[in-house]
Amino acid sequence: MFEPGLAVQLSPLVRRITAPNPGPMTGPGTNTYLVGSDEIAVIDPGPAIDSHIDAIFEIGGSAISRIFCTHTHSDHSPAAARLAELTGAELIGAAPPNDRFNDQTFTPTVHVSDGQTFTECDYTIRAVHTPGHVGNHYCFFLEEEGMVFAGDHVMNGSTVVIIPPSGDMKHYIESLQALAQLPLQVIAPAHGDLIQAPLDEINGLIAHRLKRETKVIDTLERIGATTISQMVSAVYDDVDPSLHTWAKLSLEAHLLKLEVEMRVSRSSDERWALIK
Ligand SMILES: [Zn+2]
Repeated sequence: MFEPGLAVQLSPLVRRITAPNPGPMTGPGTNTYLVGSDEIAVIDPGPAIDSHIDAIFEIGGSAISRIFCTHTHSDHSPAAARLAELTGAELIGAAPPNDRFNDQTFTPTVHVSDGQTFTECDYTIRAVHTPGHVGNHYCFFLEEEGMVFAGDHVMNGSTVVIIPPSGDMKHYIESLQALAQLPLQVIAPAHGDLIQAPLDEINGLIAHRLKRETKVIDTLERIGATTISQMVSAVYDDVDPSLHTWAKLSLEAHLLKLEVEMRVSRSSDERWALIK
């Protein structure tokens, strides 16, 4: 189903091609979606792998007139420049945050904003700003089919990594709540298969994060002021210790959210404590 180079027809308007970059962070590989037929929109062109760019171009050719990037991590946007060069399509997205996690080659020709719509005779795509995984993340909602291209805001089969400071847990949860307001039928994630019960999924994700947050608070309650390294194994006792390096980043994201909400404080030696 995720064979690289093979286009899968998912719905009347949408086809999917998966890039040949499978891995622990990317699942079966990055999904590139093609929307429409006469004028085609590409969502998340993916990594700059020649065979993947060729496969997209073979299917869409010069009918590709828009290229959307949900965000600028290295598995999402680096193919955009080359594909735009081949097709003359406009590049739609938000400029990358200036850090080593983001693809600095991505230069949008259209700087997207929340609520902006893009119409063609057979599709209307609405941009929804969904910061959290990274600040410049947008989801794209296909109005005709109630399908949302969720990028890395929602993944099928793995937990979204939130790395501060470009990632923000408070924004992430608020963006999930915003997504739930749309008339969703199906979620098309950048990694993994379609998700058919969107509201159950979104509510489950919010509940999962809030449950973890409760565990952070309970741990601080129990052991008092402490560092991230000291508390990670207690908060993530259900997660394999080999993943605790990632877990520490998520834990920091939870603590920063609680700090903004004035529920925890941080001392100058990086010890976190509950505000009572
Ligand atoms: Zn990402």
